[in-house]
Amino acid sequence: EQFERLQKVIAQSGVTSRRKAEVLITEGKVTVNGEVVKTLGTKVKPTDKIEVEGIPLENPDKLYILFHKPTKVITSVSDDKGRTVVTDFFPQLQERIFPVGRLDYETSGLLLLTNDGEFANHMTHPRYKVKKKYVAKLKGYLLREQVRQLEQGIMLEDGKTAPAVVKVKSQDREKNTTLVEITISEGRNRQVRRMFAHFGHEVVKLSRIEYGNLTLKSLNAGDARELSPHEVKTLR
Ligand code: URA
Repeated sequence: EQFERLQKVIAQSGVTSRRKAEVLITEGKVTVNGEVVKTLGTKVKPTDKIEVEGIPLENPDKLYILFHKPTKVITSVSDDKGRTVVTDFFPQLQERIFPVGRLDYETSGLLLLTNDGEFANHMTHPRYKVKKKYVAKLKGYLLREQVRQLEQGIMLEDGKTAPAVVKVKSQDREKNTTLVEITISEGRNRQVRRMFAHFGHEVVKLSRIEYGNLTLKSLNAGDARELSPHEVKTLR
C-alpha cells in the first residue's frame, strides 16, 4: 500500500526526527488536509496535504534556490550581449525561475532564485527590511569615525541610508586596505559600494554572505541548493 504512518512521512521529509514528529503530533501541531491529527500512527497517502506547525511538508510547484553567484555573472534571466546570466547555471531546470533582488556583475555571494513572484516581491519590498550581510575589501583605511557614521546613516544622492552594522575585520595602514563586514536592511542600487565611496574608499571585492537567516556556509561559487519549506517560511 502507499499508505504510511504520519510520523514516518514527516521524519522522511527531513523536517525533524521521528521521535520529535510524534511529540508534535500529540501536541496537536500537525494537520492533515487542514484537520488537526493527534493520533500517532494515523495513515496518510501521498496526496494528503500535511502541515507541521503551519508549514507544508512540501510545495511541489514552488521552487526556492539558494545560489552562490560567482563574480562576472549578470543577475538576470537573459543578456542581449550574450554574457553569462544566473539562470545559465540551471540548464536542466524545467521551471522558469528568476532572481530575488540583484547583485552587481562584480559582486559574488548569496542570491535567491524562485518561480514564486509573490515571495520575490515580499523579500525585496523595503517595508520588510530583510538584513543582508556583505564582506567588502576596501582600497582605503576605514576610520572609526567613518564606521560610526556608516552605522548611523549617511547622506547619499538618493537619500539617507538606514542604520547599518559595520565590523572591521582587519586593516593595513601601509597597504591602505580594510576588510569589513557590513549589514544593511535596504537594497538600493550599488548601495554598499556607494556607502564606502562616500568616504573615498573603493570596494575592490564584495561578497554577500548572509540574506535574512540564510548563510552561504560551505557552498562554493557556482553551486546551489534548494531551500527547505521551513527555511522559506522563516524568511517571510
Ligand atoms: N551593494 C552593492 O554595492 N553591490 C551589490 O551587488 C550588492 C549590494
